[in-house]
Amino acid sequence: MLRFIDTDQSRPDKRSEAERRTDFAEIYNPFEDGPAKSQASRCSQCGVPFCQSGCPLQNNIPDWLKLAAEGRMREAYLVSSATSTMPEVCGRICPQDRLCEGACVIEQSGHGAVTIGSVEQYITETAWAEGWVEPVRIGPDRGASVGIIGAGPAGLAAAERLREAGIAVTVYDRYDRVGGLLIYGIPGFKLDKSVVARRVERLQEAGIEFRLNFEVGRDASLEALRAQHSAILIATGVYKARQLACPGAGEGSVVQALDYLTQSNRTGLGDTIDPSSLDALSASGRNVVVIGGGDTAMDCVRTAIRQGAKSVKCLYRRDRENMPGSAREVNHAEEEGVEFVWLSAPQAVLTKGDAVSAVRVQRMKLGDPDASGRRSPVAIEGDVYDEPADMVISALGFSPEDLPVMFDAPGLEVSRWGTVEADADTLMTALDGVFVAGDIYRGASLVVWAMRDGQDAARSITAYIDNRMQVLGAAE
Ligand code: FAD
Ligand code: SF4
Ligand code: SF4
Repeated sequence: MLRFIDTDQSRPDKRSEAERRTDFAEIYNPFEDGPAKSQASRCSQCGVPFCQSGCPLQNNIPDWLKLAAEGRMREAYLVSSATSTMPEVCGRICPQDRLCEGACVIEQSGHGAVTIGSVEQYITETAWAEGWVEPVRIGPDRGASVGIIGAGPAGLAAAERLREAGIAVTVYDRYDRVGGLLIYGIPGFKLDKSVVARRVERLQEAGIEFRLNFEVGRDASLEALRAQHSAILIATGVYKARQLACPGAGEGSVVQALDYLTQSNRTGLGDTIDPSSLDALSASGRNVVVIGGGDTAMDCVRTAIRQGAKSVKCLYRRDRENMPGSAREVNHAEEEGVEFVWLSAPQAVLTKGDAVSAVRVQRMKLGDPDASGRRSPVAIEGDVYDEPADMVISALGFSPEDLPVMFDAPGLEVSRWGTVEADADTLMTALDGVFVAGDIYRGASLVVWAMRDGQDAARSITAYIDNRMQVLGAAE
């Protein structure tokens, strides 16, 4: 260990930009055994590991790095999978520069962080290849069942932990596939769909029932599900797209990011797409302007490149240092040919006939920091120009749908932003036996936080069920 002194930081090799632009395969080649071990050996085994505090799952990072450096991959896998239900997913798509790696002391001392995410991915991929990923160990039957609404990372993490606790689990989802945004939001060049499918298969083998194309609120009320199960977990994510509010930005002129990404993902999965929608949501041969500076915007610009767009520009009203998206993703996008137009806000979407022709752009400068700590953008008066575009994609983020109305559950308390309120320790909502996890609880966030919530909620639900059983037993 401590090899950061003589071993430089390195990540797995990236495929060439030319190759990446033409397909949706993951951009990194897998780590080889030798480099994975030597990168793990750069860790200085801190007594107080800040990397672990920076990880929402509190993963035991120093221990698995040491085991990996010594070539004890199976033990490394056992340690890493003890706290995470999908380490290979997090290793691929966590914004490590803002989490574990950003907190690593080697990074702080200027040597470049230990490449924790890549090693985590390598350990778990090795485990899959060697057959060390065992079936879910189902605990003694507790005689209870839980209904989970939403098959995204929060719902899946909870389902696995509940099954381990010997609880029957039914997961309801309005989509036709399991995985939530792992399948229909995040593109394959960041996370190959087979990585998710393999996990889903393992959960099915553990007896977890998935009821797909089942929308709670349409196919059953929350009350009806409460009557069927001992407890309910709401893990529905956030899907109400924030609208671009400027003249000309109506339906038909502006494409919503998730519609665009979902169709692209469906195409990759081999689904049959309606020909009219195929054309309307394809960037092929077009000058594309994407509006937004978060992860969703990054995924849109990089998808447009792969679809063969003529040009792809990303408009963001702040600058590079103040954008919410991961710096690493911006670098990938630039390598692939995306142009970022910083300090630019849309003022209007212009059309010729029925077709979009340009975005009128207001140039901005940075003012004082706002409540989020980022410097707020201020318009530079009179500095306006037209950016030619024949496809405009709005990627301004998402907020929660109105769950109390959708679920016909007025007793479900929500915050002023629409996120479901819950006890911070137990994640139980205002309704007895109804718990919450993931984006619908904390607002649009990250996969790793959704998994953390799912695991925490499963623990609380298990305790809730045990308490209820005791009360019922005492009453008999
Ligand atoms: P979701 O993944 O949204 O899953 C919710 C599920 O609930 C869905 O399957 C939905 O169909 C279902 N559902 C909703 N309503 C109902 C209903 N009424 N009845 C039945 N089912 C219902 N995070 C990262 O960490 N790294 C990234 O690189 C990253 N990239 C992203 C890219 C995009 C384009 C987007 C949109 C998000 C990205 N995120 C990323 C964020 C991450 O995907 C989310 O934080 C995470 O998926 C939230 O998990 P969840 O389980 O709470 O919700
Ligand atoms: Fe880092 Fe994410 Fe893995 Fe935690 S789960 S160690 S934050 S990559
Ligand atoms: Fe190793 Fe960095 Fe974590 Fe310290 S902070 S234990 S050096 S990975």
